[in-house]
Amino acid sequence: MDYPTCTMSETAFLKACKKCGIPQLLERFPFLKAEQKYRGTCKACRAAELRALRRHPDHAERMREAERVRSQRRRPAILQWQREHPDNMRPGRQRRAAARAARQAAAHAAQLLTTPPDNQPLS
Ligand SMILES: [Zn+2]
Repeated sequence: MDYPTCTMSETAFLKACKKCGIPQLLERFPFLKAEQKYRGTCKACRAAELRALRRHPDHAERMREAERVRSQRRRPAILQWQREHPDNMRPGRQRRAAARAARQAAAHAAQLLTTPPDNQPLS
């Protein structure tokens, strides 16, 4: 990850924070990797914003909802990954998956024994 480097004199690279308005060095602003640019509010102001969000009475509820949406969106990818990496399952999960497979195989065998084949010629 390459961050933009400052080759000019440091004082030439001051950026004014959108919130507090104080001109500061670029390194005092969070760098947004996805957008390849610096956030408009300085790190101190951003920290205060996040603190305020965490103190909101609905914070826990919001986090739960966000996690619910996120995990629902990721579910197909997670299931596919688990299918492709059976060895990476945790031991308990692996044991239950094996037990489930054994139960299903047994149920299938029992069904084959009790159900007469419907393709048998009538006698
Ligand atoms: Zn600021």
